[in-house]
Amino acid sequence: MFDFSKARLKMVEEQIVARGIKDSRVIAAMKKVPRHLFVEEALQNQVYGDHPLPIGEKQTISQPYMVALMTEAMELKGKERVLEIGAGSGYQTAVLAELVQEVFSVERIRSLALRARKLLYELGYFNVEIKIFDGTYGWAEKGLFDAIMVTAGSPEIPRPLYDQLSMGGRLIIPVGDATTQDLFRIRKTEEGMKKEDLGGCRFVKLIGAYGWESE
Ligand code: SAH
Repeated sequence: MFDFSKARLKMVEEQIVARGIKDSRVIAAMKKVPRHLFVEEALQNQVYGDHPLPIGEKQTISQPYMVALMTEAMELKGKERVLEIGAGSGYQTAVLAELVQEVFSVERIRSLALRARKLLYELGYFNVEIKIFDGTYGWAEKGLFDAIMVTAGSPEIPRPLYDQLSMGGRLIIPVGDATTQDLFRIRKTEEGMKKEDLGGCRFVKLIGAYGWESE
């Protein structure tokens, strides 16, 4: 039988630690969350590889390194309330749930949201709420948020997401064209918006009022 725990530890050492991720809490969370349960059974033996994988509905579970990079970029200490846009498989949601007080996640595709919600509950992540909606609007009733992560590529920074950040809050978002983007960390400061480019990436489209119009 395929040894998932062994494959997971190897993934963390070779793809995450070796590439410079240093946040020990992020590393521990990724050693713990059973990533293989977030894809269909036929794909489970590939899920610890260095790439994204399909999760249905033309969407993907992000590459492990990208999950680590984006999570580290949020600078989480443990007490935060965070917002995720694009729950997808729920894997990134679980990693966040290991690291903070409360995770709110928005997913536009109903079937994915329902599956992620059920799995996260079964795994005992009770500090997560998932809403089926256009996440480019954020989730105003639950804000403000200490950090927000968008796991789909956007043509621009959705204004509502910036508005829902608390002072000092971080928004991690891929911005660019339909096929390639740059990952940005946007910081809300007293002096206004501060932008850092964390490098190139490739995500499926963020579709919604403040994102792309359609696939
Ligand atoms: N973090 C997920 C990534 C899934 S891919 C994982 O690792 O499994 C990106 C997800 O964003 C898809 O599920 C897609 O349906 C969702 N998405 C795209 N536009 C969205 C929007 N406006 N609001 C909410 N979710 C959106």
